[in-house]
Amino acid sequence: MAKNNPGDILTSDWNPVVGCLRYSAGCRDCWWLDGIMPWQKRLGNLPATVVEGAATEIEARFDPAKLRPKKGIVGVVQHGDLFWDKIPDATIARVLDVVDQIAHEREEKNARLPAGRLPDTTKYVIWTKRAERMANFMEHRYPQGVPAYLACGVSVENQALADERLPHLLRVQGYRFVMIEPMLGPIDLSQYADVHWVVLGSETGTDRVRPMNLDWARQVRDLTKAHNLPFFLKQVGSSHKHPVRTLDGRTWDEFPEGFAK
Ligand code: SF4
Repeated sequence: MAKNNPGDILTSDWNPVVGCLRYSAGCRDCWWLDGIMPWQKRLGNLPATVVEGAATEIEARFDPAKLRPKKGIVGVVQHGDLFWDKIPDATIARVLDVVDQIAHEREEKNARLPAGRLPDTTKYVIWTKRAERMANFMEHRYPQGVPAYLACGVSVENQALADERLPHLLRVQGYRFVMIEPMLGPIDLSQYADVHWVVLGSETGTDRVRPMNLDWARQVRDLTKAHNLPFFLKQVGSSHKHPVRTLDGRTWDEFPEGFAK
């Protein structure tokens, strides 16, 4: 469970639509396509039609009752990329309709809480490599700004991809975060520091892992500290089973204010 994995920023996830196609350097050993998808198919939790390059809506998972009990920090569409061009706009809207519905229910419940009871501050997070589509979609759907219960992230692996994608992230009016995983090269974020959170992790899992230089991670960490940004370091080593989570003698498990697993 993500909640019990200190290297995971999520408490849980919700995947009413699944699917993706390898897109950039970080996708080479995609954990969903190469790991979770075949495993979940073997368990019978996914239909046989779920394959790389196909988008599949899993009807039962759209039931708001599936999302309602999930609390803390909930990843929305982790099994694929919600803004992949094979996912129709109508499907993205349907996913966000459920998120909005449950978030509004929580807000109403919080408003009725007796004095002294802590409100439910569940956050929903989405991250994508298709930054331009996400920024366009969010701008259109939430012209007054993305609600505070929803955080938008963009995933980048190296400087060229950061320069291509992060200008679009900065167009999102709302919580913005940068997800650097797997980190495959140095990244200077100084032009993109107007965000609310930076998450970073090395590649893990296979015998052909591309190692991360610790100085690349230090450069990002130092930039976040210079700008007073929360920094979450998932891991720096290559092992998924035995993650190395310290950098310069300590862990970096920082969340934006109001986010809690
Ligand atoms: S964008 Fe994400 S889900 Fe899609 S292939 Fe790449 S790593 Fe996998």
